[in-house]
Amino acid sequence: MTDTEAKGARKLDGKQCAAAIREEVRTGCADLHAQHGIRPGLTVVLVGEDPASQVYVRNKEKAAKAAGMESVVLRLPPETGEDEILATVDRLNGDDSVHGILVQLPLPADVDEQKVIQRIDPDKDVDGFHPASAGRLLIGMPGFLPCTPAGIMELLKRNEIELNGKHAVVVGRSNIVGKPMALLLLREHCTVTICHSRTRDLAKVCASADILVAAVGRPGLITAEFIKPGAAVVDVGIHRITDEATCRDLFGDNPKRLKSVREKGGTLVGDVHPVDGAACAGWLSPVPGGVGPLTIAMLLKNTLVSAGNRVP
Ligand code: NAD
Repeated sequence: MTDTEAKGARKLDGKQCAAAIREEVRTGCADLHAQHGIRPGLTVVLVGEDPASQVYVRNKEKAAKAAGMESVVLRLPPETGEDEILATVDRLNGDDSVHGILVQLPLPADVDEQKVIQRIDPDKDVDGFHPASAGRLLIGMPGFLPCTPAGIMELLKRNEIELNGKHAVVVGRSNIVGKPMALLLLREHCTVTICHSRTRDLAKVCASADILVAAVGRPGLITAEFIKPGAAVVDVGIHRITDEATCRDLFGDNPKRLKSVREKGGTLVGDVHPVDGAACAGWLSPVPGGVGPLTIAMLLKNTLVSAGNRVP
């Protein structure tokens, strides 16, 4: 039994949802190839040796291959300059076998990330970070959606969470999660409130939400007083905690979590207090196994859509 199943909240199972999406993408790739001879191609550009980025990129590469895509990772040394990165993007923009381009962030400190993102052809912007993609989302034109919020919408819809007319509160206003998340909920006719670090009475605002999305980056911030009983709560945060005292603060005496800290050196927690979330929410996405797996699944989906757009 998982932490969420043990108490009241029903699980918003991102792992299961992501597996279903990945299977749909795999079938879609096979059909596109059979019918039109197009094999979707995803190229990831990784600059430098950031350990977390290396893991993320390896996972994306493996997932794209498993879906039947042409999956390429260009690994560039840490000293690669901005001009060379831009030239690499230019080359990929002009390569018809590449349908999706993803530049793994963060880039080295002396490289202008926005400049690099803006160089990607918006028609290959499968991360959905290009200003053209953001603009399309804002005014409701078709375009690539940022993968994490797009995945959350899939999670909500596939669990038949009612959105129309409901109050959705998004905590966090980043360009990659909070803002696009709010726009996607608005598109589904939610009444949307965006909260951030300057919001007054955060707990009170959150406690009025039928749907609460926490993308804050503060472990366990969302406690019982933030949660309307029965609300659907989506936890975007991912934090690794490594000490037993913090683990006890967040998980009580949960033996599985304590064992993980003692034997594996840590355990993952989100922005939602796991015990409070499980007790108060009607639905809760667990960490791990909630939002995390959906991000890659949606990247694959975007790449398949991009390749499909090439069908004459
Ligand atoms: P960010 O740091 O860019 O943005 C955090 C936002 O939270 C900011 O807008 C800030 O105003 C707000 N905030 C900070 N402290 C606050 C407080 N005390 N009260 C209210 N608001 C506060 O982060 P991000 O990139 O949006 O990511 C948020 C979290 O989601 C992080 O933990 C990140 O690791 C995680 N994340 C997970 C995935 C995934 O695939 N699961 C993807 C992206 C991000």
